[in-house]
Amino acid sequence: MKKILLATPTMHGEEQQYIQEAFDTNWIAPLGPNVDMFENEIASYAGVSAAAALSSGTAALHLATILAGVKENDIVFIPSLTFAASVNPVRYEKAVPVFIDSERDTWNMNPAALRKAFEKYPNPAAVMAVHLYGISAEMDEICRICKEHQVPLIEDAAESLGTTYKGKMTGTFGDYGIYSFNGNKIITTSGGGILVAKKEEDVERARFLSRQARDPARHYQHSTIGYNYRMSNIVAGIGRGQMLHINDHIERKQRIYHQYKEAFSDIAEIEMNPLNVNGVDNNWLSCITVSPDSRVNPVQIMDALAEADIETRPIWKPMHLQPVFKDHDFIQVEEGLSVSEDIFNRGLCLPSDIKNTEEDMKRIIQIVRQQFGA
Ligand SMILES: *Cc1c(COP(=O)(O)O)cnc(C)c1O
Repeated sequence: MKKILLATPTMHGEEQQYIQEAFDTNWIAPLGPNVDMFENEIASYAGVSAAAALSSGTAALHLATILAGVKENDIVFIPSLTFAASVNPVRYEKAVPVFIDSERDTWNMNPAALRKAFEKYPNPAAVMAVHLYGISAEMDEICRICKEHQVPLIEDAAESLGTTYKGKMTGTFGDYGIYSFNGNKIITTSGGGILVAKKEEDVERARFLSRQARDPARHYQHSTIGYNYRMSNIVAGIGRGQMLHINDHIERKQRIYHQYKEAFSDIAEIEMNPLNVNGVDNNWLSCITVSPDSRVNPVQIMDALAEADIETRPIWKPMHLQPVFKDHDFIQVEEGLSVSEDIFNRGLCLPSDIKNTEEDMKRIIQIVRQQFGA
């Protein structure tokens, strides 16, 4: 039987034309027309004036951390429920992450817990918001809190390109925002990322840092530490081809989400991951949680699907439970079982590949339903 995967790249053909153009013109370099055009296309899609194409989403987060002025021993507030890639760049700068619990409504950073974090640590260097699984965080409240405290906001929109909150693209609320084009994201370039910023000069600065921070002098002169974080012109060609289809990708992801929701609507023990009522989510991955009183647990569902050659994935394991970050503080609204840990314990990500057929969806749904005796 066909193996069903979680989310794989979906190519359309135009990607190869842009790659061919790069070969034909010999722009086989970490700069060139595809890079410039891809930056313009993303900026225009997100509704910002400029974007800097980079080698990965993690590289983009690293530069955002530097641009935000985060330094050694500085505190940065980060949601606990995220991928380690959100946190690692903060540690590259030897700053100290303080993890914030999730809210049930969006699974993202709980603004009330964020307020509480400011009471305990009044002077963090930055706040990082993440839009998990393509669901936007509660940006009005998060932006208000950052503004009140005059703290820069970084938005990790790696998973949420195309997701809007109150009509505005996620990634463009903060002082700095990043998107990822890793292999399984909503569009992919095989690997890559991009940085957007409120101020155009910050995008320019990111480009400068990504090119080894070479000063504008005739000879090789450097007055600061730089990085080799540029995006290749070949990779950017893939991105240009993908951008022609981003809205189609999102519509298909949304359809998958609603198909699961409909299929499980009669099973009270299954709940879909929330949608932000204030926006339109790209539904990068469809997730479910199993109710606390159910005799079915997510591991059992994952095992049953794996047996049928169907790939799933656990919810991101919260950062405050990670061995590498165990010494960092974790702020929740109320003591007791944290919301992020509870979601992790009871949840899983279902296959969300936009190439899945009706037949594939039926197979997945049937096996999940069987676990609940339905
Ligand atoms: C994928 C991802 C990243 C990192 O992006 P890369 O391009 O893989 O470096 C960062 N944060 C989150 C939440 C992600 O899902």
